[in-house]
Amino acid sequence: MIIQFPCLSDNYGFLLHDPKTGKTASIDAPDAQEITAQCAKRGYKLSHIFNTHHHPDHVGGNISLKEQHGLHIIGPQADKERIPGIAQVVSGGEQFSFGAWDVHVLHTPGHTKGHCAYYIPKLGSVFVGDTLFALGCGRLFEGTAKQMFDSLAQLAALPPETKVYCAHEYTLANGRFAQSIDPDNPKLSAYMDEVIKLRAQNLPTVPTTIAKEIAANPFMRAKTAEDFAIIRRAKDRF
Ligand code: ZN
Ligand code: FE
Repeated sequence: MIIQFPCLSDNYGFLLHDPKTGKTASIDAPDAQEITAQCAKRGYKLSHIFNTHHHPDHVGGNISLKEQHGLHIIGPQADKERIPGIAQVVSGGEQFSFGAWDVHVLHTPGHTKGHCAYYIPKLGSVFVGDTLFALGCGRLFEGTAKQMFDSLAQLAALPPETKVYCAHEYTLANGRFAQSIDPDNPKLSAYMDEVIKLRAQNLPTVPTTIAKEIAANPFMRAKTAEDFAIIRRAKDRF
């Protein structure tokens, strides 16, 4: 089962818990205190962290959680020097088992060079870190537009009903930009109506789905890497 909770200013924390084996993974470690509290109130014992990339709002809790719980940290090979406490590297294309599930690692560079996403087919869920956001995508801090375009294409190829767990609640601002790019898309308008309602009640817009993003997210709809690059630059200035 997947538990989602807000933390820091606009991050989401996620716990992946297998009741049979009792294993519990935190996807990234934005906020050690909050993650520990979320585990404690459910009686979960944290056993793993799956890091998507090395930014402080994703690895900030690594060491403190490792010290408290003695857990096992998995993260991207290319970012390994920058991921505190890392014990196992992944680079994309491999699978590992976690409790009752197989976890498929996808290399999704663009935001950082090592960025990985964790896809769990049996749960129909993918944890995408800062690669894909609801109605948006991550900034290109280290990678090229072509790399991010290919990373999004990799995600777009997952089954359409796949739930997408993004690491931030950026949807309202992303949607305003999306509407400036694609004003006549009725699926985007309907999506935004829903986002406005949810946010007015302080409810999450995450998870989204691959199908929803293909229908409405201008970054997922770009046909070429060149078009993608133009939209990404426009968003940086929006
Ligand atoms: Zn980041
Ligand atoms: Fe982030």
